[in-house]
Amino acid sequence: MDMFIIKNDGNSRKIIDLGDGIRIGEREFTIISGPCAVENEEQIELAAEALSSMGIKILRGGAFKPRTSPYTFQGLGLEGLRLLKNAGKRHNMKVISEVMDPRDLEASYDYVDIFQIGSRNMQNYTLLKEVGKFNKPVLLKRGMAATIEEWVMAAEYIASEGNDKIILCERGIRTFEEYTRNTLDLTVVPIIKELTNLPIIVDPSHGTGRKELIRPLTRASVAIGADGVMIEAHPNPCEALSDGKQSLNFEEMRAVLSDIEAIKNCMDNLNS
Ligand code: PEP
Ligand code: MN
Repeated sequence: MDMFIIKNDGNSRKIIDLGDGIRIGEREFTIISGPCAVENEEQIELAAEALSSMGIKILRGGAFKPRTSPYTFQGLGLEGLRLLKNAGKRHNMKVISEVMDPRDLEASYDYVDIFQIGSRNMQNYTLLKEVGKFNKPVLLKRGMAATIEEWVMAAEYIASEGNDKIILCERGIRTFEEYTRNTLDLTVVPIIKELTNLPIIVDPSHGTGRKELIRPLTRASVAIGADGVMIEAHPNPCEALSDGKQSLNFEEMRAVLSDIEAIKNCMDNLNS
């Protein structure tokens, strides 16, 4: 693989510093949570309030949504980013949101702390190169049909333009299996650590499509050495405008957080 910038050269691993003591990578286990999409002010405020009270420091919420059907909710666009940023600000959270179009990067820049590149755009090389010109962390999701090599080379595209503040995110791949939305490929966690110096987090929401699988797969993500997880959570998942089936309510989120602490302790004991 032709990696130069993001290659694991045996030296220190990349740490993504978001400011205010919030760092991704190395010894941190980062939890990113929030709704699939920002739907309205009340919804994102309720999410920010509940999640920040649990100690979660990064709020997610899509504003530009890549939906299968053009007739379903497409997100609130810049207005959604504004609502997300304000909710984050009120609760001292950093925010992340997906960008799909290079023409939206400039306008989105001031609203988000991390640009998310979604699975469907992992090989949108124009977008990768453009986002690589900004001084802003990028979370790059794995394409749903991307090999590890294609994925890390997509990250190298971003880095080659000057921006090496990249977080990789495993979100499941398409396989013959239809019971789950995707097949969450946790194998990549140690492989990405071997190959690159970048942090890798896991998204068990998109990775499975089923809320009951989030808890066990989050446990596994901690145990396998991921640098964090991204989990969809909504004040009322049954009424969510997108991805409600793979979104936790806040009580369920609390249970996942206590699991994370327990497995982290096990891992610390194992490694000491
Ligand atoms: C999302 O995070 O809501 C999303 C659309 O994810 P993915 O690109 O992994 O499908
Ligand atoms: Mn989603």
